[in-house]
Amino acid sequence: MKTFELARPSTLAQAFGELELDAAKRDRVKLIAGGQDLVTEMKEHLVEPSKLVDLKRLPGLDRIEVLPDGSLTIGCLVTVAALAEHAEVQHFFTALAEAARSVGSAQIRSQGTVGGNLNQRPRCWYYRNEHAPCLKKGGTECYSYAGLNKYNAILGGGPSYIVHPSDLATALVAFDAEVTLASAKGERKMALDKFFTLPSEGDVTRETVLAPGEILTHVRVPAKRGWTSTYLKFKERGSYDFALAAVAVAVRFEGAGSQTVKEARLVLGGVAPKPWNVPKAAEALVGRNGLETWTAAGNRAVAGAELLAHNAYKVPLVKGLVVKALESISKA
Ligand SMILES: Cc1cc2nc3c(=O)[nH]c(=O)nc-3n(C[C@H](O)[C@H](O)[C@H](O)COP(=O)(O)OP(=O)(O)OC[C@H]3O[C@@H](n4cnc5c(N)ncnc54)[C@H](O)[C@@H]3O)c2cc1C
Ligand code: SF4
Repeated sequence: MKTFELARPSTLAQAFGELELDAAKRDRVKLIAGGQDLVTEMKEHLVEPSKLVDLKRLPGLDRIEVLPDGSLTIGCLVTVAALAEHAEVQHFFTALAEAARSVGSAQIRSQGTVGGNLNQRPRCWYYRNEHAPCLKKGGTECYSYAGLNKYNAILGGGPSYIVHPSDLATALVAFDAEVTLASAKGERKMALDKFFTLPSEGDVTRETVLAPGEILTHVRVPAKRGWTSTYLKFKERGSYDFALAAVAVAVRFEGAGSQTVKEARLVLGGVAPKPWNVPKAAEALVGRNGLETWTAAGNRAVAGAELLAHNAYKVPLVKGLVVKALESISKA
């Protein structure tokens, strides 16, 4: 690991000051929160920052606030463990608590933060290999496309076929979450769904629209009282692992005791370069319920899948997860 300067601002204004650099130096300055992803990248020489701006001393960003209308404001420094253990999150945003519980190991959850989780970099093993200068690292070729692609995207891929690794992102998109991006120039807010980008939409070396000098400070989740939700993740290794495929479903039934769906959200994880929001699959649920409906939603969820040589198994896996997730919340 190369030597670097460490800045430890104690206000947002100081942090913005540390990030105000001329364009030539911007790529060499990185934000660090829990360090669970960034330090690994540094050890593997994937990034070699000249300066780290440590966010951990910024006040007030390590809190989950429940507002009177039932919506949540989650600071970027809230740990994944704190999110998983929060009583209101467990009760009203069950899929989010379940997604948080499914992240890595207890040690990773206790150090990793919400901001870091949403901004973590891909796990594609060519990306993680310092000797593989693929497209995502500014090269000319996607090695996964014709190479080892068992873990890669079946939806939304090309020219890079990464899958987004964040479990929290999948659940938060299902809850219509919004993010605040703050910089010396002010704040901008956007739907989390729009924060993530596809490789075909812009800069293939990035996964989000976060601009140099910006910090993701908060995630806001609108109230979802009366909704039932779950997050189901399939992983290869029993102990802890990233999702081979995952589904976040949230539904509102027509009334107390009713099993007929009034509104629904369905988002896939582990299968696309960003959380794969499938409103058409969610629409298939409205006004009905039962196995036939769940199967139709599963079929719609994978519509347009483009398979690589080794990842066709993800199609039946997603269909099965969708049915299982819907069955579990319908019986809840
Ligand atoms: C072995 C292992 C297993 C894992 N398993 C899972 C898993 O199953 N599911 C899952 O979702 N994740 C998993 N992770 C990823 C882990 O959850 C994330 O690495 C962690 O949450 C990142 O949080 P952090 O605070 O440590 O981020 P850091 O490592 O500090 O930062 C990560 C990235 O985010 C940027 N960043 C941090 N905070 C902000 C902010 N507020 N605004 C803008 N940019 C920011 C940093 O610059 C850096 O690029 C795993 C990681 C490891 C090492
Ligand atoms: S999928 Fe993306 S990260 Fe992986 S080899 Fe292709 S370009 Fe690189």
